[in-house]
Amino acid sequence: MQYEAVIGMEVHVELATASKMFCGCRADFFGHDPNTLVCPVCMGYPGVLPVINEQAVEYATRVGLSLGCEIAPFSKFDRKNYTYPDLPKGYQVSQYDLPICRDGWLEVDLDGSRKRIGIRRVHMEEDTAKEFHTGDSSLIDYNRSGVPLLEIVTEPDIRSGEEARQFLTKLRTILRYLGVSTADMEKGAMRCEPNVSVRPAGSAEMGVKIEIKNLNSFRVVKMAIEYEIERQTAVIEAGGTIEQVTMGWNERENRTVLQRSKEFAEDYRYFPEPDLPPLVLAREYVEAVRSGLPELPDAKRARFEDQYGLKPADAELLASDAEVSDYYEDCSAAAEPHGVDAQTVCNWVVGELFRLLNEADTSIAESPVGPQALSNLLSLVKRGTINANTGKGVLMEMFRTGRDAEAIIAEKGLSQISSAGALREVAEQVIRDNPDPVSQYLGGKDSVLGFLIGQVMRQTGGKANPHVVRELLRERLSAQRDE
Ligand SMILES: [Zn+2]
Repeated sequence: MQYEAVIGMEVHVELATASKMFCGCRADFFGHDPNTLVCPVCMGYPGVLPVINEQAVEYATRVGLSLGCEIAPFSKFDRKNYTYPDLPKGYQVSQYDLPICRDGWLEVDLDGSRKRIGIRRVHMEEDTAKEFHTGDSSLIDYNRSGVPLLEIVTEPDIRSGEEARQFLTKLRTILRYLGVSTADMEKGAMRCEPNVSVRPAGSAEMGVKIEIKNLNSFRVVKMAIEYEIERQTAVIEAGGTIEQVTMGWNERENRTVLQRSKEFAEDYRYFPEPDLPPLVLAREYVEAVRSGLPELPDAKRARFEDQYGLKPADAELLASDAEVSDYYEDCSAAAEPHGVDAQTVCNWVVGELFRLLNEADTSIAESPVGPQALSNLLSLVKRGTINANTGKGVLMEMFRTGRDAEAIIAEKGLSQISSAGALREVAEQVIRDNPDPVSQYLGGKDSVLGFLIGQVMRQTGGKANPHVVRELLRERLSAQRDE
C-alpha cells in the first residue's frame, strides 16, 4: 500500500522588541549575565500586574498581514496552566480561542510549481525562563522569562521533509524582512515543532500525529520528519498502532526518541487572563500597519526579474535576503550610469563577492567592499582599464585591505594593455615561438587560437586586453596564411 505523510508545523518566534511582553525589562537577553534582566513581573511575584507590549502587538500584526491572515478586531489573552520550574507563575500568558491572526497562507516553490501552505493562526505569548542542568543540580535564568513570543501554526498541508524545510526558509526570510525577529535558530529565536502522521495515500482520514520537539536547524527538521515518516509507515505496515506522544531528536543517533506523553488542551485548563483587558484593534490601526509593510520577498523577486532582467534563479537568490538585495540594488544603481548591466552586477555579487564573504565567514552587511566600491571596480572593467580576470584579483585585494580599486590598480601597475601597438610585438613573438600550434591553426584548427591568446596573456602578466589580442593574432596569422 502507498502511504502519504500529513505534516503541520508550530513555529515559535521571539520578537525583537525593546522590552518584554508584559514588563519593562530588556528583551534582548542573549549574552547577558543570568538573572540580570528581571523584575517582579517576569519573575512571577504575586500581586504584580502585566501590561501589554504595544510593539509586540504591532509586530504580530505585521506578521499576520504578511501571511495573508485576518487580523482579529477583538482578541484576548488566556492563562495556560502548567507547572514547570521555568514558568514561575505556574501558567503562561498566551492566546487560546481568540488569537490575534487567523486563516492565512504562505507560498513555497517546489520543483518549479508553487504550493500554498495554510496558516491556521498566529498568536502572542510569553517565553519561559531557561533551565541549565549541571550534574545533580539545576540552575535557572529568568532573563528569557516574559520575552514576547509569536506562535505560528500551519494547517496540515505539508507532505514531506523538504516541503517543511522550504516553508521554514521562506518564513524566516519574511520575518527578517519585517524586522520583527532575528529568527536565529541557533540562538533559539526561532523554534520549530513539526507534527507528523501517516495515512494511506488518498485517504481523507487523519492518522495519529506525533509532535517532534527540540529541533535546532532546518536540516534537522527535514531529517526528523523523514525519519518519523519511515518509522510510522513501518509500524503501520507491521500491523501496529501509533500512539500520540511527543518525541525529541537524538542528534548522535539521528533518530526520534520518546519524550513524554502528549498533553491535550484540557490538561492546560485555559481560562481568560483576568489581569489583562481584551485586545481591540481598530481597522485604521491595522491599515496603518499594512501601509508600513516593506516589499516582501515574492514581490521583490518578481520586480528583480522585471526591472533588471535577471534570470529567475538569480532574482530568487538576491531577494531571499533583504541585506543582499539592498546591496545589489545600491551597486546596480551606481554602476548603471557607467554602462554596467544589471546581470553583470548580479554575477559578481553572487559569484566572486559571495565566495569571499563565505571564506571570511562574514555577512554582506559587514562586507569590506561596499556596493559603491564594487560598482567602481565594475566600471573600470567595463571601461577596459583592467580585464575581468584581473578584476577578480583586484576585488580580492579590496576585500582584504578595504582599499579602492583605482589605488590597487595604480600601485600594482595592473592597467590593461589595450593598445595594439604595445601588444603587436608580443603577439609576433608568440607566433615565432610556437610554430607547431601556428601551423595547426593555419591548417584549419581554429581552437588553437585560444592557446595562443593564453600565451600572450602570460607574457603580459595577464594585463593584455584579450579582445585586442584575439584580433591581433587573427590579423597576423591570416597575413601569414596569405604569404
Ligand atoms: Zn520584567
